[in-house]
Amino acid sequence: MLDDPAGRRFVLSLTDQVVRIRDRRRAARRFRDLVADGGPAFSGPLDRMAATTGAVASRFLPALVTDLVVRRLRAETEGVILPAEDPALANHLASRRAEGFRMNVNVLGEAILGEGEATRRYELVRAALARPDVDYVSVKVSSLRSQLSAYDFDGSVARIADRLHDLYVEAQASGVFVNLDMEEYRDLHLTVAVFRRVLDELVDLDAGIAIQAYLPDSHAVAGSLCAWARERRARGGGRIKVRLVKGANLAMERVEAELRGWPQAPYETKAEVDASYKRLLDTLLDPQWGDAVRVGVASHNLFDVAWALALDAGDRLELEMLEGMADPEARVARARAGSVVLYAPVVRHDDFQAAIAYLARRLDENTAPENFLHAMFSLVPGSPAFVEQRDRFRRAVAERTTVSTTPRRRPRPLVASDPDARFTNEPDTDFTVAANRELVASAVGGRRTDEKSPIQGPRITVADVERAVAVAGASTWGEVSFAERRAILCRVGDVMARHRADTLATMAHEAAKTVLEGDPEVSEAIDFARYYAASTRTIEALVAEGLTFRPLGTVVVVPPWNFPYSIPAGGVLAALAAGNTVILKPAPETEGTGALVAEHCWEAGVPRDALLLLPAPEDDAGRRLITHPDVGGVILTGSYDTARLFRSWRPDIRLHAETSGKNAIVITAAADLDLAVKDLAQSAFGHAGQKCSAASLAIVEASVYDDPAFRRQLADAVESLRVGDAADPATVMGPLIRPASGPLAEAFTRLDPGESWLVAPRPLGELLWSPGVKLGVRPGSWFHQTECFGPVLGVMRARDLDEAIAWQNGTPFGLTGGIHSLDDDEIARWKAAVDVGNAYVNRGITGAIVQRQPFGGRKRSVVGPTAKAGGPNYVLTLGHWSGGDEPAFARWWRDEFAVERDVTGLRAERNVLRYQPRTERIALVGGTAEDRTVARTAAAVAGVEVVDEVVPGVDRIRLLEPTSDDLLDAWFEAGIDVDPSPVVRHGRVELLRWVHEQAISETRHRLGALLDD
Ligand SMILES: Cc1cc2nc3c(=O)[nH]c(=O)nc-3n(C[C@H](O)[C@H](O)[C@H](O)COP(=O)(O)OP(=O)(O)OC[C@H]3O[C@@H](n4cnc5c(N)ncnc54)[C@H](O)[C@@H]3O)c2cc1C
Repeated sequence: MLDDPAGRRFVLSLTDQVVRIRDRRRAARRFRDLVADGGPAFSGPLDRMAATTGAVASRFLPALVTDLVVRRLRAETEGVILPAEDPALANHLASRRAEGFRMNVNVLGEAILGEGEATRRYELVRAALARPDVDYVSVKVSSLRSQLSAYDFDGSVARIADRLHDLYVEAQASGVFVNLDMEEYRDLHLTVAVFRRVLDELVDLDAGIAIQAYLPDSHAVAGSLCAWARERRARGGGRIKVRLVKGANLAMERVEAELRGWPQAPYETKAEVDASYKRLLDTLLDPQWGDAVRVGVASHNLFDVAWALALDAGDRLELEMLEGMADPEARVARARAGSVVLYAPVVRHDDFQAAIAYLARRLDENTAPENFLHAMFSLVPGSPAFVEQRDRFRRAVAERTTVSTTPRRRPRPLVASDPDARFTNEPDTDFTVAANRELVASAVGGRRTDEKSPIQGPRITVADVERAVAVAGASTWGEVSFAERRAILCRVGDVMARHRADTLATMAHEAAKTVLEGDPEVSEAIDFARYYAASTRTIEALVAEGLTFRPLGTVVVVPPWNFPYSIPAGGVLAALAAGNTVILKPAPETEGTGALVAEHCWEAGVPRDALLLLPAPEDDAGRRLITHPDVGGVILTGSYDTARLFRSWRPDIRLHAETSGKNAIVITAAADLDLAVKDLAQSAFGHAGQKCSAASLAIVEASVYDDPAFRRQLADAVESLRVGDAADPATVMGPLIRPASGPLAEAFTRLDPGESWLVAPRPLGELLWSPGVKLGVRPGSWFHQTECFGPVLGVMRARDLDEAIAWQNGTPFGLTGGIHSLDDDEIARWKAAVDVGNAYVNRGITGAIVQRQPFGGRKRSVVGPTAKAGGPNYVLTLGHWSGGDEPAFARWWRDEFAVERDVTGLRAERNVLRYQPRTERIALVGGTAEDRTVARTAAAVAGVEVVDEVVPGVDRIRLLEPTSDDLLDAWFEAGIDVDPSPVVRHGRVELLRWVHEQAISETRHRLGALLDD
């Protein structure tokens, strides 16, 4: 099986998908699908027959067949993962001990999403400590507490340390040795800090820690750990043991690096890792540490094991191997070394899915071509596999003195961006890097919580508005060349990057944004600068083809308070890129942050008459600004009602509005519930739910909804969110920006028929609320239909996926939506039917990234030209197009609009932008016969039917000639959207009028293993 990728995939899918599904019928169906998809190609004829027969029988006896599958998988894996129940466990431990092995027990469990689960795991470890047949356990610090954060390093250390302290005390009393495992890179320094802190408190305790050789960082860590241990020993303290491993989380580290745009934390090659392993061994066995440091050589690579034994370190060295992975080698090693510790994960019967991640890692390890275990089957002295492994080993020994020990993740130098370079996303801050944490923390801590940055100066009046519009109108920005505009915009991105820490501090204090919520916002603003600069090339190319592009003139940007930096930056920079001048009116609540956007633009060279900052109040002055006849367009991000208000003030207003959302995540019976609950909590309660993209509904398939374990896990995750001041690094969910009112105040207190609180929200202060989750939300109810914009999540119980999709689509909005399911057929059905602008599969539904997930919705989530922000068409919509003589609609449709494109090239996440025909009923009004024919042809190519007059049922008008305000008023009153853009005889521009854009972002890895490989 190890040699057969199809076999490995099948076993993993069986474990991951069939075992995970608690609804037996669904599990049986999934089993049938997997068998039909090729099944156990690796296995012998007997297994193949069993699988095929099982697939047939599963139709009639789903419970029996799925039980058999689970039992078979447990039997197949029980040599690697031990059952936690006695007598099986006791018997196994006894027989291993009789063979002369020491056993190191590690209790596996559910993902730690909340403190409840962390406590449950802690109790399981305590139970292991209490067993008379256990004298060695391993734990991961990240399983002892939830809500750990790389940014809140000190707080996380303190919270884990207090629990580990108790565990150590108990272990010491029972005579059990405790070792800290190492898993993700982000836990490296955290684990070391906790270890040292608690051992400094319990001076005479002996304890262990794992160090991963695949991390160059481990060299400095090992050196300082040993020096500290020697000093502790000299004070009469205990000894430490360092378990030296190569590192088992490579696949996930690669995925994280790719998605975050960070360098991969582990070395790039196995050769470096092998050399690093030996270098670390030299460090750890250095005689200068005396007896303070013992070393566990944990490896199945017999070359490395032999090398370690040859170093002749006496009882300072111990061999360690994994239970069930290399039994013959373990016996030989024990015979040579005298003893071997076997690391044995144990899992309770009803927690078996918790073993999946461990199994996946082991399977990966056994099948990765360069690995020793992969070669072992054909390893005879002199065989090609032997020679290859031998040569690897020799090279590693030689290179151990020269292998680099410089961490790959470190503070990034700020480099000026190149306007001619291909666009790449600005990575978020890597808070595993201490210098980054310190820089931001000192900026945030350097201000008082109540210190805001309101713009000083007298109140803006109508006269100020007149002056500003006149200044902007006289600016010559529109004449600046595209190349020069690109250079300036790229410089804006650079300036923003330079001021990141200061911006985060301003947002934390003024906008109630935690650093971890604010940081991606700064990255997004920087991306907007560079992406919109690059977007101008499309305009240039179209102009070169003979089209005319005229900027709108002066554009007023009206952003909200919830993304007080990136949203104004996006509007301002897109408008500037298209050659417009801009008046920025920041949200009253976050004028200081809005002012930073303007300052950063000016600092980068945007002329002050091309961008004006006008914090106009929402009175006559504000209204005059929005409706001024010399204003060519308004970019609004806000509620649908505000968009309607603006329209009611001026029916011919050119409005580009991103409006409200009522977003849902569908969770089916085939979901990975650990992941689904984590993503749901994050999507619902990030920035206290004050995002238009936030998940406000979870539509859950009945068997999951009814499962007490699901509710327990969701309640645990939500109740554990740390609520507090945004400037406090420990805070996960910050306060509201203003006291709850309107629908949010109602959502906090109202329960409609059938509804009940799973987690009741509580007021903790004027602006501070704990999060709430209500069960039993019914289709068509108030909460199903109303945007509440705060930390309340409603859960709906759906019969099946079709019903779930109908409810997800059954709101007036169409902004974001998600699904969690590991079933490809379900995902395909969902993608074909979901009616949202941003669709997300097996991931959270917030945090859209420029270019990867261009952002914007449909229905009442958008008003105006509807191009997505951060997408290829946004800047194109900020001007007037005309001309063209060769529409070539069919060609453009085939080559551009009918293509589902992923320009990101990521392997772990697929990000597709696609176009779908508009679904509104659209009428063509006015225009010459020729124009109407061209428009109708474009619509037909796009698959849109148009009508020739405004009949009842029309909800959008393509207006091909100016008309009276009265008529515009009447259409507005009737709720009809008007697109006044003239016909352009060019497929790239004209076809855009007839389509919706949809961005689909889909996770394409399972536990690090890439699904498309
Ligand atoms: C007793 C025991 C305890 C363990 N505890 C931990 C632990 O706490 N944390 C942990 O992370 N792991 C742990 N492991 C697993 C360990 O890290 C290795 O994954 C595993 O032992 C395989 O390494 P090897 O030396 O046996 O074999 P080898 O085949 O020599 O090495 C395989 C390893 O090389 C590295 N590698 C392979 N290909 C590449 C590549 N292309 N680029 C970079 N690196 C590459 C990976 O680390 C891979 O696991 C433990 C292993 C044992 C035996």
